[in-house]
Formats: sequence, C-alpha cells, structure tokens
Amino acid sequence: MISGINAHICEKCVGQAQLILEEEAKAQEAGKQPKFNLIKPRAIKEHLDQYVIGQDEAKRVMSVAVYNHYKRLMQKPQEDEVQIEKSNIIMVGETGTGKTFLARMLAKILQVPFCIADATVLTEAGYVGEDVESILTRLLQAADYDLEAAERGIVYIDEIDKIARKSDNPSITRDVSGEGVQQALLKLLEGTAINVPPQGGRKHPEQKMISVNTENILFICGGAFSGIDRIIKSRLNTKPMGFAKTNLEEQVDTQNFLRYVSAQDMKSFGLIPELIGRLPVLTFLNPLDKTTLRQILTEPKNSLVKQYKRLFGMEKIELDFTEEALAYIVDKADEYRLGARGLRSICESIMTDAMFEMPDEVGANELVINLGYARSKFEKSPLRHMRAA
Ligand code: ADP
Repeated sequence: MISGINAHICEKCVGQAQLILEEEAKAQEAGKQPKFNLIKPRAIKEHLDQYVIGQDEAKRVMSVAVYNHYKRLMQKPQEDEVQIEKSNIIMVGETGTGKTFLARMLAKILQVPFCIADATVLTEAGYVGEDVESILTRLLQAADYDLEAAERGIVYIDEIDKIARKSDNPSITRDVSGEGVQQALLKLLEGTAINVPPQGGRKHPEQKMISVNTENILFICGGAFSGIDRIIKSRLNTKPMGFAKTNLEEQVDTQNFLRYVSAQDMKSFGLIPELIGRLPVLTFLNPLDKTTLRQILTEPKNSLVKQYKRLFGMEKIELDFTEEALAYIVDKADEYRLGARGLRSICESIMTDAMFEMPDEVGANELVINLGYARSKFEKSPLRHMRAA
C-alpha cells in the first residue's frame, strides 16, 4: 500500500493506472499524426531524386500514380458518382536497375507499410508453394499487425514476368506456375476482402483468419521481361502504316526498345489481359550505362561510397577512392551486367580485407583505394569467376 494524506492505493492499482495513462497518451498521439504522408508529385519526385539516379520517366509516372492513389483514399465515399480507380503499377526493367529500390523508397516517403513478394514462389491454392494470401500476411507483419495501416500499404511483387503463360495456347494442361498464379493474383489486385492466416503458412479450417481488404493497397509489380524488346520491336515494325527498316531506326530509339512498352506487349509476353487491366500504370526503367553506374557509386544520399566512408570514419580512418579505382568498379559491374546490384558485391570483395584488418591497426588514419589495390582484391575474390553476360 502506498499512502497519501487521506487515502491509500495498492501497487496493483498504481500499475493499472499507469497503463491506462500510457494507453491514452498513445491514442492521443496516434490521433494527431497524419495516417500517411501525402506530398505532391513534384515533391515525391524530388525526394526520389535524392536516392535514385536517372530513371526520370519512371519516377514521374510513379510519383503521379502514387499521389493519385492516395488522393483516392482521401475522397469521401458519398461525394458523387466519380470513383477514382486504383493505380497499380507495373515496371519493366533489367535486373538491378532499381525497381525494388523505387518501390521501397515510395513506401518510405509516404510512411506506409511495405513488403516484397516474389512471384516465382507463388502457386495456385492447393499446390506446393505459397498461396497468394501469404503476401498479405507479410504486409500485416510489416505493419506490426495494424490492420488499418496494412490496408493502405504498398506491396512490391517481383519477377512478375516469371509467371507469364508459357505458350499462347491457354490451358492445354493446367499451368501451375503461370496462368493459375496470375488468376490467383487477380483476386488480390481486384480489391476485395481476403481471409489471411495471420502467421502465414497453409490455411487450415481451425486457424483464425484476419480479413484484409485490398481495395486501398497499392500493388507495384516489376520484372525484367527478358526478350520483350523483340516483341516491341516487331510490333513497331509491323504497324499498319509500316515503317521501312531505315525509318524505324530514324524514328525510334533502337538502343532502348523498352521505352515503347505497351499493354499489348505485356499480353504477347504472356500476361493475361485481366491482370494487365488491373495494372493500369505501365512504366519502364532504363538499363544502367557506365555513366549512371559511376553516379550511383557516389551521388545518392546513401551511396555505397558514402556508406564505406562512414564505416571507416567510425574507426577514425579517412577513406578515399581514386577515380581510376571507381572506374574499375564500374567496368566490372558493367561487364557482369548485374546492374547496380553488382556494384555492391564488387565493392564488398574489394573492401572486405581492409574492413577485417583496419580495426586492429594502431595509428592508421587514412586509406586510399587506388586502381592497383582494387584490382588485386577483386582478382583474388570468387566474384571474378562470375560469368559475364
Ligand atoms: P531490381 O529490383 O530492378 O532488380 P534493385 O532495386 O534491387 O533492382 O537494385 C539493387 C540496388 O541497386 C538497390 O538497392 C540500389 O541500392 C541500387 N540502385 C539500383 N538502381 C539505382 C539507381 N537508379 N540509383 C541509385 N541506386 C540504384
């Protein structure tokens, strides 16, 4: 018992009172905070610019799509007949060009829950593999089981091209990994309430389910769609008015057919029309050339070079890269065609020894990575056996 002037309170009640106060404070805090961070398209793009180099077209298209999507959330249902439709996005671009990165940055800017799903592990219900509902389980987990937050989240579905229909002839046999999964995904994209096993895993009758409404979840799909450039090229070539070969080369950017990608090409690639219809915003990412790779190394707010400098700075060591060393890293990344992802593994192979030894070295306060150093470390690493594309 704790005694006051003319009353007593027991320790249990003190504890209880504390909990009530804490809960009230939390509720007040939550009420004050905006549910998500709505900023205008230009501001979204400026934010993206700080982290993502190039890809201007994709950044513009996505900023608008995301802005509209969240404007739609603000719309009061009774206002009038105009219903803004959802702007789910599909991105086409080689591996390592920043598709996942863009989606993740958008979620971060808007401060909404985000999760990544891999289309290749999904199967139709009843087959070995993950049901599409598992995506929502992951989103719920990302939102700490805050259902309301999850229902406004962003889901990135990677490798959507891998569930393309294998042949143009629909369903001679059941196509477990392709069309069936596309059908299953449709259910998610359509905007309905879906029963989700909160802990993931297989559904079974006794399990308690959480009903998640996907109406306001923004789905962003991405894939490399390798070979789609040929489809685009032949479509451009066979337009009714017809381009003569020389004409085609004059009028279109023959280095990068992806920029002309259309819903029709998605269909020819093997996505079903219903799915394409649910992904109305189509955009592309440019392959990363050497200039862009070089910029990615040093320019973004959290560029690789800045990260290594910080790591060494924490050991009181000033780290620097010579221009030739950076050019070498870019050359190797370009050679192996791993996009910006290659930069990271190449840098690791060069920096690991130094990161291992430096913390023990007394008196060292400077390290310069020059071409000779970079080359000797890279050539000793297993990475050099990677097959160049
Ligand atoms: P994808 O999903 O297209 O295969 P990622 O988004 O996973 O590629 O890209 C891998 C990494 O490369 C990202 O985490 C990011 O650090 C970096 N990256 C890729 N593209 C860019 C870019 N345009 N600007 C800055 N960094 C990039």
